[in-house]
Amino acid sequence: IKMGILMANSYDLIVIGGGPGGYAAAIKAAQLGMSVACIEKRVGKKGPALGGTCLNVGCIPSKALLDSSHKYTEAQHDFATHGIGVEKVSFDLVKMMDRKDKIVTQLTGGIEQLFKANGVTWLQGHGKLLAGKKVQVKDTDGNEKTYDAKNVILASGSEPIDIPVAPQDGTHIVSSTGALEFSEVPKRLGVIGAGIIGLELGSVWSRLGAQVTVIEAQEALLPMVDGQVRKEVQKLLKKQNLTIHLGAKVSKAKVDGDVVKVAYTDAKGEQTAEFDKLIVAVGRKVNTDNLFGEGLELTMAERGMVQVDESCRTSIDGVYAIGDLVRGPWLAHKATEEGIVAVEVIAGHKAAMNYDAIPSVIYIHPEVAWVGLTEEAAKENGYDVKTGSFSFAANGRALAANDSNGSVKVVSDVKTDRILGVHIVGPQASEIIMQAVIAIEFAASTEDLQLVCFGHPSLSESLHEAVLAVDNKAIHAAPKRKR
Ligand code: FAD
Ligand code: NAD
Repeated sequence: IKMGILMANSYDLIVIGGGPGGYAAAIKAAQLGMSVACIEKRVGKKGPALGGTCLNVGCIPSKALLDSSHKYTEAQHDFATHGIGVEKVSFDLVKMMDRKDKIVTQLTGGIEQLFKANGVTWLQGHGKLLAGKKVQVKDTDGNEKTYDAKNVILASGSEPIDIPVAPQDGTHIVSSTGALEFSEVPKRLGVIGAGIIGLELGSVWSRLGAQVTVIEAQEALLPMVDGQVRKEVQKLLKKQNLTIHLGAKVSKAKVDGDVVKVAYTDAKGEQTAEFDKLIVAVGRKVNTDNLFGEGLELTMAERGMVQVDESCRTSIDGVYAIGDLVRGPWLAHKATEEGIVAVEVIAGHKAAMNYDAIPSVIYIHPEVAWVGLTEEAAKENGYDVKTGSFSFAANGRALAANDSNGSVKVVSDVKTDRILGVHIVGPQASEIIMQAVIAIEFAASTEDLQLVCFGHPSLSESLHEAVLAVDNKAIHAAPKRKR
């Protein structure tokens, strides 16, 4: 009993935040024999929920709706090409949303089961780091309890940015969270921000019939994407029913009855637009509300992030920070990897992140995916680069699937032949990119991948041909230089 009391008040590791960073860290620590508690305050539709932004209101529900809406589009427009006739294609939004919610519940419940199976204690409530590696938890009834921790991982994640010119009312003007919950398809949907969320959620509602207008402040769309691939993405987006205004700054958005009136300025001057719903998707900010007690010597970084070293150590010995709370891409798998690395370091193991091998994916159709350096960034970094591309239009599997838009581009170093980056727009780019991630993680040369036997017919053969094209050796494309 004494041990039990001791265990309940002190842990080898306390993790604040149960998202993909925090929950993975907690499970990993339990695997390594530590006593672990994870503090998570989120209350989802079915009660308290683990899984963070990603499982509850991010990656998973958005992909559920992207998949449903894509199937609807295929049934409407692509089945006929295959010779399949359907009388009248329709959808039931309530069922579609219900399916999404069930997937969320299944996955968040799954994390709870994994916690139980691994002996991780879930402390429900708000966690606060106090001086001396103490952590205070306040539950929903307001009860407070303080625990001792040998180590703490801060994994409180991020939340949508609010902009004063477009105050959210939760009904007409919403964040990404609200945009996953519309009870009917808005006839006219406005989106502020043509970032990843704007394009993904804009695509969902556009496919379901909304007239979507995206208002983006920057002159260039997706500046982080390789220039050649970006041009292709822009062309493909143009064919879809998304209207994108670039270089357009919103000056005011207000709800008037059931309409959202938006004023913005672009190259042509003052403009106005009316929408039934408006999504604000202008980025995210760290979630550090009431996270820190008095007297902590915690060094902060830009944009409210916690300063960490390459192993996610903060300025306080034994306190780590991971995921959307720290530098690097704000992606679920990056948060998870950092959680694992931090726990390995706590356990005294050698562990390090490789930030050069983190894939990024935009789940529009066709998907956009990349890893490593763009051609532009490689040149800026002083590399002498050689590149190769291959179009899905010459890929048998893509043609068989009637899904042959896009291409694969490989960027390599002339001096060492090492692959520096791979950039894809095309069918299942999110899956194909993982082969490039493995290649880059293993420091593969262009020749290494050229010598691999790829299965036929497969979409991945486009990666093989692109890597062959780097040295002008593609089999199924005319040579870049005449022989
Ligand atoms: P989070 O997932 O934000 O989890 C932090 C958790 O901590 C939250 O549940 C919060 O309730 C809890 N918390 C915060 N403060 C406290 C406190 N003081 N006490 C207790 N609990 C606290 N990324 C991808 O890689 N792929 C995608 O396809 C993708 N799609 C996305 C789609 C949308 C619409 C959004 C919004 C995001 C998407 N992301 C995607 C980003 C991804 O969700 C985040 O990068 C990821 O969730 C970050 O993980 P995290 O563990 O750092 O934080
Ligand atoms: P983002 O940073 O990707 O894009 C925000 C966009 O809004 C930018 O293009 C920016 O120029 C624009 N913008 C900012 N202020 C504006 C204003 N006042 N008016 C008009 N435009 C403005 O952010 P996001 O789309 O909100 O997504 C947030 C983060 O969530 C992403 O960066 C990513 O880390 C994560 N996410 C990832 C995925 C994925 O991996 N598939 C999907 C969704 C979200």
